Amino acid sequence: MPTPIRIPLSVPTIAGNEWKYVKQCLDTAWLSSAGSFVTEFEEKMASWTGVSHAVALSSGTAALHLMLLLADVKAGDYVILPNLTFAASANAIRYLGADPILIDVDPETWQMDLDVLKVFLSKTKKNASGKPLYNGRTVAAIMPVHVLGNMMDMKRLSDVAETYQLPIVEDAAEALGSRFQTYHAGTMGLTGAISFNGNKIMTTGGGGMLITDEESIASRARHLSRQAKTDPVEYAHDAVGYNYRMGNVQAAIGLAQLEQMDTFLEKKKAIAKRYQTAFAGYEQIIPQQHLAQTHPNHWLYTIRVPDSRGLMAQLANKGIESRPLWRPMNQLDMYREQPYINHHDVSGMLNRECLSIPCSTGLTEPDQEEVIRTVITKI
Ligand SMILES: *Cc1c(COP(=O)(O)O)cnc(C)c1O
Repeated sequence: MPTPIRIPLSVPTIAGNEWKYVKQCLDTAWLSSAGSFVTEFEEKMASWTGVSHAVALSSGTAALHLMLLLADVKAGDYVILPNLTFAASANAIRYLGADPILIDVDPETWQMDLDVLKVFLSKTKKNASGKPLYNGRTVAAIMPVHVLGNMMDMKRLSDVAETYQLPIVEDAAEALGSRFQTYHAGTMGLTGAISFNGNKIMTTGGGGMLITDEESIASRARHLSRQAKTDPVEYAHDAVGYNYRMGNVQAAIGLAQLEQMDTFLEKKKAIAKRYQTAFAGYEQIIPQQHLAQTHPNHWLYTIRVPDSRGLMAQLANKGIESRPLWRPMNQLDMYREQPYINHHDVSGMLNRECLSIPCSTGLTEPDQEEVIRTVITKI
């Protein structure tokens, strides 16, 4: 029998107006996306992140799909993606009939390696519209992923993107509240996708949002997310649409969670700081590095250790949940044949050596002390 989990990896905190707002939905029977919480959640999120528009959707993956579609990614195109990400990022590219070009990640920040990307792009040809051509196919966009809520040098990425005329579509699913300089994650490219899945920094149970400064993109995303309906009564549609709209109950929870985001960010930061201090003297424990211009949300605290799976088993024995970092895309059957641009397969190394440890916004200090003691004695 496995030991039951006593200290989970990352679970939500429900401590604000969640019950009150959900009750309002139920009392008024406004459950679908026609309810007013959807609009309010969108407006509050747009102003909190500093963009003009936010479109509430059924998942972060739906946001990724619409974001790529609206960046004009077409069947047969390539999209640049870090090799180390959650499968949803690559899958969204495939939904459009496009393929990822997988770029290895930086060994310290664990984000897409800009040096590897630059060398790769410098060897490509250009098509008639100035975009890179690779294997005779157009490279249509760059999708950075803010891995674990950290961020790469977005200024440098913007320069590269401009040189090659590539739109940036940000997978900011994990990075709500992270900033590069003063800019929120998801707001530095054409569009950004946020996730409110149960394990993210704030949750709606399941849900996502597309954020952008472009009015035309926001209205198109909203339209497509509602089955591209053009008449409220007649069944008239002007495109192949999707049922991607967020429901009012999710939005009610989301609004209540967003009201607590500043507290969540402080909690995550304090947890990260305590881990960092406690592990500082142990050279077998290597934390993720952050660039000076970045202010990460510390979504999932992750360390590199010599025997990550051994440590995971030791933690599990004590009822402490932990998890390895994703299997890289080039190791998944669906993406094995895709170009994987790398020098040393850093993503493979990080998959073997990394472990995320408990960091729920509600993690208590005694529980964290126990995690720290266990990690230190078992590595
Ligand atoms: C969670 C996540 C997604 C998907 O979001 P969902 O809301 O679960 O669909 C996409 N990309 C990354 C990097 C994620 O962590």
